[in-house]
Amino acid sequence: MCNDCFINSVEKIVNKTISKYNMLDPSDSIVVGLSGGKDSLALLYNLLLIQRETYNSKKPIALIINEGIEGYRDESIKVAIEFCKKEDIEYHIVSFEDEFGYSLNEIINQKDISKDYLYACNYCSTIRRRLLNDHAKKLGGSKLALGHNLTDFAETFLMNILYKRIELIGNQYPLKEEPKILRTFFIKKIFPLMRIPEDEIQLYMNLKEIKYYPKHCPYRDSDPILRKRVLQFIQDTKKMSPEIEFNLLSSFLDLSELIYHKNNKHSSYELCQKCGYPSGTKKFCRYCGLQNQLKTNKLMN
Ligand code: SF4
Repeated sequence: MCNDCFINSVEKIVNKTISKYNMLDPSDSIVVGLSGGKDSLALLYNLLLIQRETYNSKKPIALIINEGIEGYRDESIKVAIEFCKKEDIEYHIVSFEDEFGYSLNEIINQKDISKDYLYACNYCSTIRRRLLNDHAKKLGGSKLALGHNLTDFAETFLMNILYKRIELIGNQYPLKEEPKILRTFFIKKIFPLMRIPEDEIQLYMNLKEIKYYPKHCPYRDSDPILRKRVLQFIQDTKKMSPEIEFNLLSSFLDLSELIYHKNNKHSSYELCQKCGYPSGTKKFCRYCGLQNQLKTNKLMN
């Protein structure tokens, strides 16, 4: 493919993914989770194209989460803001410190004093998910668009298989229609980049000459998590069988749909005693559970 055809093919796949899975409606108010990295910027850029050329609807709003990762997130946020200003996009910044009470750096400092300490990503992903959801709703969004790409989906699915997290695979079914009770709490998420591999998004951004923050989060490499080994496995295997990521995605979609429908037939939900969100079978939801754990550690030290 020449460069122009490659760019067109990526944009076509985003369009087709959106229409194949009915991700958007012209009346939607879209909030985009923006980090300043290549994926979320490619997503926002493509949604702008679609909004201008196809739907002629409201402009997406960018929601930037500042986890408080020194020397990393502050830099990527600058790139995100620069893009929003250039494209005249409304943006909002929400920080872990203001909303959750602790920045990620503060949480990580508890590593040596807490026996319950998890990995940085365990805290970060739970808190970020909640803040994105709550603030996208506050901004009046009807859809929250996230930049997860094909490689992210393949990697997460393989990890969940390795750890036999069957229920989680069902919960992650990306095309689910949540029961009414859950829809009052959770905004619908969409993943328009889910059929594009990470390296192709990078190439797309480079060819389009859209500036993005190129570095990975330092905790992705420093914590001894299995995720990076799984990613390496996918990248190595893909050299011999390029279809492997697509096969993992389609297996994930089929399996997660089956498990989701099987598990959600008779589901009932406890509500968190602190925030009132669904908490599965537990007294507190995961977000409040982590907050309680960190508060207790602080009091004890
Ligand atoms: Fe958070 Fe970094 Fe982990 Fe991503 S890699 S979940 S930004 S700590």
